[in-house]
Amino acid sequence: MGKHLAPKQKHELNFIKKKPTRVTGHQAEAPVRKAKREPVVKAHSERKPLRLPELGGHPAVFAVLAAVLLIAVRFLPLEGWMVPAACAVPALLCLVEHAGNAWEGVKAGRRLNDALLSCVAAVALFATGLYTESVLLLLLTSAVNFAVKRLSERAEAEQARISEIMPQYATLLTEDGAERVDPATVNPGDIILVRAGERIPLDGVITEGITTIDTMAVSGQRSPWAVNTGYKVYSGCRNLTSDIEIRVSRPLAQSTGRGVVRITEAASDFPSEQETMAARFQKYFTPTVTALALLVGLVLPIFRGAWIAYIRRAAVLLITARAAGDAFGIPLIYRRALALATAMGVFVKGKDCLESMARAETVMFDKTGTITEGRYAVTDAFPVQMSEKQLLTIAAAAESFSRHPISAAIREAAGSLDERMVKAVKIKEVPGRGISAFVGKRQVYVGNAALLEEHGIRCNIPARPGTAIHVSVDEHYCGYLLVADKVRRRAFDALETLRINGVKKLVLLTGDVISVARPVASRLNFDMLRAELKPEDKAKAVSYLMKNKGQRSTIAFVGEGENSGRILTGADVGIAMGSLGSDQALVNADVLIMDRDIFKVPKVFSISRTAFRVSMENFAAGAGTGVLAVLLGVFGVLSPLAAEILCFVLSSVLLANILRIK
Ligand code: ADP
Ligand code: MG
Repeated sequence: MGKHLAPKQKHELNFIKKKPTRVTGHQAEAPVRKAKREPVVKAHSERKPLRLPELGGHPAVFAVLAAVLLIAVRFLPLEGWMVPAACAVPALLCLVEHAGNAWEGVKAGRRLNDALLSCVAAVALFATGLYTESVLLLLLTSAVNFAVKRLSERAEAEQARISEIMPQYATLLTEDGAERVDPATVNPGDIILVRAGERIPLDGVITEGITTIDTMAVSGQRSPWAVNTGYKVYSGCRNLTSDIEIRVSRPLAQSTGRGVVRITEAASDFPSEQETMAARFQKYFTPTVTALALLVGLVLPIFRGAWIAYIRRAAVLLITARAAGDAFGIPLIYRRALALATAMGVFVKGKDCLESMARAETVMFDKTGTITEGRYAVTDAFPVQMSEKQLLTIAAAAESFSRHPISAAIREAAGSLDERMVKAVKIKEVPGRGISAFVGKRQVYVGNAALLEEHGIRCNIPARPGTAIHVSVDEHYCGYLLVADKVRRRAFDALETLRINGVKKLVLLTGDVISVARPVASRLNFDMLRAELKPEDKAKAVSYLMKNKGQRSTIAFVGEGENSGRILTGADVGIAMGSLGSDQALVNADVLIMDRDIFKVPKVFSISRTAFRVSMENFAAGAGTGVLAVLLGVFGVLSPLAAEILCFVLSSVLLANILRIK
């Protein structure tokens, strides 16, 4: 996390600092990420795959050709000048590729780039008569480069796939017919046509047509959804079977697909702390070793003679200077982790968020919609001086515009009674409490006991344990409804898997009554429970734990995207479930789980933990071996051939280690 670095250090790291531009592209767009830390654009260890200038063909062709020639040279009965002459051909073939890369690197401002070091070492070896070693060095370097390139291409493919989900045009339906327009110019309320096979350009509601849509890119769900008139659809999904018309609900800048693309593209601008550490090591290691090589190869022999031996030693040092190349693959590790998360429909706003997750010892969960399904049902009604029907009707009228899951349950229960409802006005929703509204001319409260008691209305104590929603009309208590929600099917397994991944403490927060929360918490083995909290109490609970946590550990909060806004921003990592179509999640969360699969929580944790561990291992192994090789090289213990093989094996092991993240 960049925030731990003083500005000066940041400068030293040779990062190009950019103003915290979380607003990309469109001016009106909400920032993708809250200002927790500053983004850093392109760590200097991150490189684009370099291409051969104007030589055509794949560099691999040169490498293979060179390898064949090298083997041929070994078996030919060559003597004297013929050996270097024969080796010069494969050497030049390889050198073309590396010199090209070296030049590109220098042009990009990386003067001591890996390719340049390899070239100089190879030339030094060749000049001192180690012809085969020279060619072998270049060949092995090519092999490592090739593997690095493949790995990063694979990680980038995921990002590229996401970048392409937004169509360039929308088919706007006007009175004059259909017209292709720029999606940015379409306003909420406009009707657009999406043909079968096209991607949906804007979020909206279907007004015409029945179809199936592929939501994979934005939800991570493989099976297509069947949708009908009245269904919400999201931009970035593909319309599979037949043409539909959509009434646009949000401008492009706030659309789901656009948000997802922006998050994916911005994520690599926020490096992990480990990456920064590796880059810093590389920043000092490479120039130091290079300077040492110059000293050994060019200065020492002035005093002590033995030019050839010293130049070879210098070549060994240059080879080992490369050991820290690509910062031990650590940028690649986190890119791979991001790609894996994206592939399952989990969007992470930065590599540093993954790292914070890996260090989380405490994970706090919101109950409704996260641990439970968030789909309430009215199980019982206890009216006072009125019929059950009347109680439900009044409650439903007051709830008519709320998006709370309890509200949906009450409206559903009342709806089946088939009664014409009186319209409610002056509706006020009190988060964590309930609703205050006027139905007709009468003041109605619908919510928990705390809400009614605040207004001086005494509530009955529920006859059975459960979430009671009390109702009052004009200061008269009218009874209560019992509503119930179900714990998610895989919640227990998900939480246990979190523990396996190193989470030590699980906390459950809820606004619900203790009698409902306690059985849930004990069934799922939560370590701590806080119930009957108002939203601001939840935020306080998070900040209390944030203040009292261990120095290196972090706290994650998992909540529902739509109504845990501020709480998500309070923790080190805010994870929002059910983020599809939620503006709140897009703005406030660090990690967006698009669907409601609770098992994705431990899955991302596991990816982040593995990435963290692999980074540690790669750094320790890389830096350790590098320093050791330098020491051995200075004293001439390590021969050029041994150094080449050592560095090759090291790189291979480090890269293979990255494959463990899955
Ligand atoms: P949770 O922490 O479980 O997500 P909330 O903070 O959303 O719960 O709500 C806490 C309590 O407030 C609910 O259990 C309910 O009693 C009451 N409440 C909140 N919103 C409403 C509503 N729209 N209608 C009725 N009751 C509500
Ligand atoms: Mg809630």
